[in-house]
Amino acid sequence: MNAELVFVGTELLLGEILNTNAQYLSQQLSLLGVDVYHQQVVGDNAARLRAVLTQALGRADLVIACGGLGPTDDDITREVAAEVAGRALKLDEGLLRGLEAWFATRGRKMTENNRRQCMVPEGAKVLPNDRGTAPGLIIPAPGGKEIVLLPGPPGELQPMFARHVVPYLTARNGGRPMRLVTRTLRFVGIGESALADGLKDLLAGQTDPTIAPYAKTAEVHLRLATRAADQAEGLARIAPVEAEIRARFGRFLYGTDDEDLAAAVGRLLADRGLTLATAESCTGGLVAKRITDVAGSSAYFRMGFVTYASEAKERFLGVPADLIAAHGVVSEPVALAMAQGALERAGADVAVAITGVAGPGGGTPETPVGTVCFGLAARGGAEDGRGAGALPGGAWTERLWLHGDREGVRERAAVHALAMVRR
Ligand code: ATP
Ligand code: MG
Repeated sequence: MNAELVFVGTELLLGEILNTNAQYLSQQLSLLGVDVYHQQVVGDNAARLRAVLTQALGRADLVIACGGLGPTDDDITREVAAEVAGRALKLDEGLLRGLEAWFATRGRKMTENNRRQCMVPEGAKVLPNDRGTAPGLIIPAPGGKEIVLLPGPPGELQPMFARHVVPYLTARNGGRPMRLVTRTLRFVGIGESALADGLKDLLAGQTDPTIAPYAKTAEVHLRLATRAADQAEGLARIAPVEAEIRARFGRFLYGTDDEDLAAAVGRLLADRGLTLATAESCTGGLVAKRITDVAGSSAYFRMGFVTYASEAKERFLGVPADLIAAHGVVSEPVALAMAQGALERAGADVAVAITGVAGPGGGTPETPVGTVCFGLAARGGAEDGRGAGALPGGAWTERLWLHGDREGVRERAAVHALAMVRR
């Protein structure tokens, strides 16, 4: 089954309100396995709405139109939809009594134009509105098609869709909701084009599951999707494709679905019984924030140092002043000394350090804006007597030239630091 969505309201065309109903309905329909090929926005104008509904009905099984069901003169959706479906409008006495009661209990007088909301196209199914006065409608149209009308206010539309439209669509589908089952594979340390290039054959031949790459800041995600009666059936269909992708790029794959990089790093540390410390300069604590965003991070995170001034790097991390003088504060030796200082002073098993130039100012010919140095220090090896072999131990540095504005450089630096801990 496929649906076309029509949003009615001049305020949408003027940009006065954001079309949040489009996002809500598209998400819900995709979960139900209903394909949406087109969405249209049209103003409160009968001729244009008629043209839009006619076109939509010509190419979709189901047309869902939102807004313009109210009592005022610019609310024309009910009348135009009935006309396009070829159904005469009749006053629904039951609805009228209900609406009169609704006004009575609120001590308000029903006006004549509210009667318009009780006009129902012949053969249409009425959807109760638990939050407002305008009922929704499912209007049969020629060719076994249907036009569903929903009120514009999201607070009315959403409960009506969930309580009355979802069961209706599920029943139409023989009671088996064909839901979209997705699996997201999350990669770091490889670019979108390199990943896509290595999966060229899979991407070209994809039909089921579909494979969609998404570039994120310093990460790439692959979304595998299929339709199935339930999660297990869908994942079973995805599994062989996932296995093939893992065989090719498993070393860059850090997590799946909702697990972000900081959570994946945390899982790794917790599994190995290791603790972490951070020493940050240009990222100002961003790595520590990411780590501690994860619930349960107290199990492995010891402490984070934010040492912005050179003097602070000396005083709190024990970075030698002459090291800074010799190499510059943005250098691999300083990054490593920061990591080693953090490792010692926090009593952690692993420490990662960042020093760089986030910009926009502060660049030099030797260290242009975007230059970031990373240091990683780890205990381990047989000599320290704990968890022999859990970590290779020792030290490791890297120097990168990251692109982007200040925000982008800091973001990418934080992701890279987390990725270094993962390796
Ligand atoms: P009412 O009975 O309130 O008049 P209605 O069905 O006639 O409802 P509209 O008049 O089109 O709906 O819209 C009423 C309000 O609902 C808008 O002012 C807006 O706040 C909200 N609304 C309408 N359409 C959308 C949309 N697509 N996305 C988000 N909000 C919307
Ligand atoms: Mg209205």
